[in-house]
Amino acid sequence: MALPPETRVLPYNAEAISEAARLILDGQPVAVPTETVYGLAADATNGEAVARIYAAKGRPSFNPLIVHVPDLATAEQIGVFDEHAKALATEHWPGPLTIVVPLREGSSIASIVTAGLPSIALRVPAHPAMQALLKETGKPLAAPSANASGRISPTRASHVLASLDGRIPLIIDSGATQRGIESTIVAATGGPLRLLRRGPINIAADEGVGGSIEAPGQLASHYAPHKPLRLDAIEAEDDEYLIGFGPVRGDASLSETGDAVEAAARLFELLHLADDASQARIAVAPVPGDGIAAAIRDRLKRAAAPQ
Ligand code: AMP
Ligand code: MG
Repeated sequence: MALPPETRVLPYNAEAISEAARLILDGQPVAVPTETVYGLAADATNGEAVARIYAAKGRPSFNPLIVHVPDLATAEQIGVFDEHAKALATEHWPGPLTIVVPLREGSSIASIVTAGLPSIALRVPAHPAMQALLKETGKPLAAPSANASGRISPTRASHVLASLDGRIPLIIDSGATQRGIESTIVAATGGPLRLLRRGPINIAADEGVGGSIEAPGQLASHYAPHKPLRLDAIEAEDDEYLIGFGPVRGDASLSETGDAVEAAARLFELLHLADDASQARIAVAPVPGDGIAAAIRDRLKRAAAPQ
């Protein structure tokens, strides 16, 4: 699908939310205000829709994304909350706190959202526009900040327009965001709580989280397969599971038509599949092109040379 050529800016009202919901259910990302910064929201159960977030932002690699849900009950359908996680959620939701918990088995979240990890970052936002969009779509929404990669986070619709004009179909405008900085992130994945990112909610003081802060994504340490991985393979050698792309067929294909958005949506699923296959090694076909194809290559390079 080609990216939409024209970006509309609509003031936040019921009509704008209906239009945004229609676009999201059609697999498009839409910029929407939250109480922290403007987010670029897409249906977290649709891998290609989430891949279009990356395409629009021009992100050079895949990081796990925060998933927004309307309430704790919905969050618990997606992640597993222990008593610490539940206490945090009860105290701070809706609000600018993201909680990383184990991903619930059989959840409908697309693997690109967690970048293949068995954990998921969840948040119940307080902003009425994001809440309205969650209710109207009935979907969990993956939403990183609505700015081009490397630019500062947008706190006004005009900031979003300046960096994503012509790359997304719609921006919902509700003026300046209240907080202006990204949510606090805490991991509750067993053992003591860990602060992953400082933000508007001061967990260290409130909850007595010990130890030093971990860099964003550090806990995640990024999913990597357990087997050696060979890049730019045209055919499988002995005992290799070949992940194909375009003309290179393989045991499974990222995209038979060579579509990078489809390939991004399938990347982590196929890496897991290859990891579980009987072959001792993994090979991956070349994924040429810039933009999202480059992000796929970056991710594959890291998987080939795990730290
Ligand atoms: P943002 O760029 O604001 O969407 O924040 C994303 C950050 O949330 C990542 O860089 C991670 O630090 C954290 N995060 C998101 N998902 C996960 C996850 N599944 N496991 C661990 N950390 C996560
Ligand atoms: Mg950002």
